[in-house]
Amino acid sequence: MGNITLKKVNKSFGETQVIPAIDLTIEDGEFVVFVGPSGCGKSTLLRLIAGLEDTTSGTIEIDGRDVTGEAPAKRGLAMVFQSYALYPHMTVRNNIAFPLKMAKLDAALIDKKVTDAARVLNLTSYLDRRPGQLSGGQRQRVAIGRAIVREPSAFLFDEPLSNLDASLRGTMRLEISELHQQLKTTMVYVTHDQVEAMTMADKIVVLNAGNIEQVGSPLELYNKPDNLFVAGFIGSPR
Ligand code: ADP
Ligand code: MG
Repeated sequence: MGNITLKKVNKSFGETQVIPAIDLTIEDGEFVVFVGPSGCGKSTLLRLIAGLEDTTSGTIEIDGRDVTGEAPAKRGLAMVFQSYALYPHMTVRNNIAFPLKMAKLDAALIDKKVTDAARVLNLTSYLDRRPGQLSGGQRQRVAIGRAIVREPSAFLFDEPLSNLDASLRGTMRLEISELHQQLKTTMVYVTHDQVEAMTMADKIVVLNAGNIEQVGSPLELYNKPDNLFVAGFIGSPR
């Protein structure tokens, strides 16, 4: 499961409306990318889905269940933060195990889940190292591992690769796409990078000042942009 439905979701900070009443459906298993220029409301939209911000009005449903106002931990989603959100003093094993220890899972079960996640992410031989002894890409994989062990119905990524250098970004892009193919879990991925959007997404949501300009596959947006903003942002020949 991992269907996310936004109905007339509006978000204002004081007088400032950041997200006007928008409707959006994310299907189970889809890789959806929110793309748009800096400040257009991508992170706010993701944080509304995660429950890190409350909607001003409108409702959010996950797998048909109204989660509006529900605490983040109850939504069954996992937010993947940038790799610098790791605990530097903890081993890779303990960083990945952290959410499970917080949830007071049985030690043997925690060990199995961490071992499985490490295998999926090629981190098996790094479990006893600390983040400072890892490369940027490995650290990013640990951050993803910490999300995987919770077996979320969807992963939420907010510009996870923005602090990596260009070549590593390319590698990680492929790794995250492969992970999606392997897990087949819904992924919602925020970026201001058109290349990331075009290469990773099943469905792209183009945002401009909080408004959804267009929703479609990379090819649809490229071949049939609805307007000049989409054409300009995606780089369509128009
Ligand atoms: P993006 O992630 O696309 O760069 P954001 O969602 O971070 O954009 O921000 C969208 C707009 O909302 C910006 O104008 C930003 O200043 C404003 N904003 C975001 N969070 C807050 C907040 N907590 N209080 C006030 N304004 C905010
Ligand atoms: Mg942002």
